[in-house]
Amino acid sequence: MKRLTKEEKFMKAAIKAAKRGLSEGEVPIGAVVVYQDKVVARGYNRRAKLQLASAHAEMMAIDKACKKFSSWRLPEGCQLYVTLEPCPMCMGASLNARVDKIFFGAYEQKGRSLTSALAEANLLNHKTEVVGGVLEEECSALLTSFFAGMRQKQKEEKKQKQLAEQDSQHSTTEN
Ligand SMILES: [Zn+2]
Repeated sequence: MKRLTKEEKFMKAAIKAAKRGLSEGEVPIGAVVVYQDKVVARGYNRRAKLQLASAHAEMMAIDKACKKFSSWRLPEGCQLYVTLEPCPMCMGASLNARVDKIFFGAYEQKGRSLTSALAEANLLNHKTEVVGGVLEEECSALLTSFFAGMRQKQKEEKKQKQLAEQDSQHSTTEN
């Protein structure tokens, strides 16, 4: 077996968090905050469960890390690993928390994440380095299979509904 790089090892931890979300019926996106080569906080997307627009994996992990260090400003050298390219909200939170480096897995297909623009904008007198494509295949497969499964489920539900409607039409004509 191929030995994992340090980055891949931490991305695996983010994938594990994403799978936890998956088991709870969430879109599987996971994140971890790493400090001095240790995972100090984990988070996964909980938007469906909490019905909060801000319940993204990165926000969960960053909030936990801030609580752990009792500081909104994370210590120098904190890194964020996330399975999907961060959205502008999460990039904003990372900059606010002074995350030094962000590693993400899958690329956002729509290309609207503004990731590098925000990383470079220096809005808060802080720039963060961003590295994309860490275990990209594994990270995007997780999302692709989730959405494929969801579409399949919707298709089956639609079919069931049509069958039920046909049944009720039958019974009305028979009566
Ligand atoms: Zn986000």
